[in-house]
Amino acid sequence: MARPAVAEIDLDSIRANFRLAASLAPGSNTLAVVKADAYGHGATRVAHSLAAETGAFAVASIEEALTLRQAGLTHPILLLEGFFEASELAIIPREGFWAVVHNQEQLEQIADAALSGPLTVWLKVDTGMHRLGFAPDQAVTAYRRLQSLPQVARVVVMSHLANADLQAAEGISVANQIERIPAELRAPDVETSVANSAGLLDHEPARQAWQRPGIMLYGASPLEKDSPHSRRLQAAMTLKSRVIATRWVEPGEQVGYGARFVATQRCRIGTVAMGYADGYPRQAIEGTPVLVDGQRTRLAGRVSMDMLTVDLTHLPDAGTGSEVELWGKCLSANEVAACCDTIAYHLFTGITQRVPRVYRGG
Ligand SMILES: *Cc1c(COP(=O)(O)O)cnc(C)c1O
Repeated sequence: MARPAVAEIDLDSIRANFRLAASLAPGSNTLAVVKADAYGHGATRVAHSLAAETGAFAVASIEEALTLRQAGLTHPILLLEGFFEASELAIIPREGFWAVVHNQEQLEQIADAALSGPLTVWLKVDTGMHRLGFAPDQAVTAYRRLQSLPQVARVVVMSHLANADLQAAEGISVANQIERIPAELRAPDVETSVANSAGLLDHEPARQAWQRPGIMLYGASPLEKDSPHSRRLQAAMTLKSRVIATRWVEPGEQVGYGARFVATQRCRIGTVAMGYADGYPRQAIEGTPVLVDGQRTRLAGRVSMDMLTVDLTHLPDAGTGSEVELWGKCLSANEVAACCDTIAYHLFTGITQRVPRVYRGG
């Protein structure tokens, strides 16, 4: 028998989530963000399953974009960080990729390039995130310059939201970020794009010409507090395994490394084939929820490389072979992430190659 650790990926759910995303901003364009191997779900499988739904994809690098091309996808593919070196500029128009332009160096490299075809560029404006983008007071000049270049066919203006997921007025607000885009670039004839999943789910003003949802396609809400829309998302990845051994442990005995769990009463421990080398976080605290045969129980002891241990004392019917869900359809990745001091994005992208992806639907 094969090791039972698998990530089941429900392509129908991803499609339903995409349709929900697109329905939130009717009459506009919604591209599917499939960077980082579609947040760990498998970029080519996910992209094929969305091929008839979306007009474009977005990824983080030209390597990720070329992987989609080699898999036969013909859509425009937006490179969210643009190009890292000028040599990529020969490939971008030839392959039908779109490039973010976030600094003056990239702009000059385009101006100096002899290109095989006209480029679509997304001009990134830094409205408060302070990672990438032109400062607002330089953005109009950059926009006009790009529009004047013979190499450039089309300019979309974009910005990225820093706090759209938060409830409290911590940091810069969505409204404030949008206001920092120069008025000239918010004119009706300029195509703009602001919304990530959180913006799209929860902030009407962020819904502009292009939406860029990522995490919501995979069924995890980015919002600190769920909303009516986010409650409709369907978890796409179910991380599963099985109990491979059980034993009774006497009071005073420890389970696993470092004696984090010491039995205070006689208890029954199940050992599960899933560890941090699979991407299940070692940071998971004592008591992190786990489902065994669909019933909630808790992590008991530290996660090790290939195994973790759960409390089965109150689940007498569970035993070797019992099915374990670490997160997914019945246990939200957000709830597990909160026990690991992280976010669902990190859980999904952390699942390693050792875990086979098994696809359903499509
Ligand atoms: C990753 C990314 C997105 C998608 O963000 P989610 O929070 O996953 O929806 C959108 N825009 C940019 C620029 C990104 O890098």
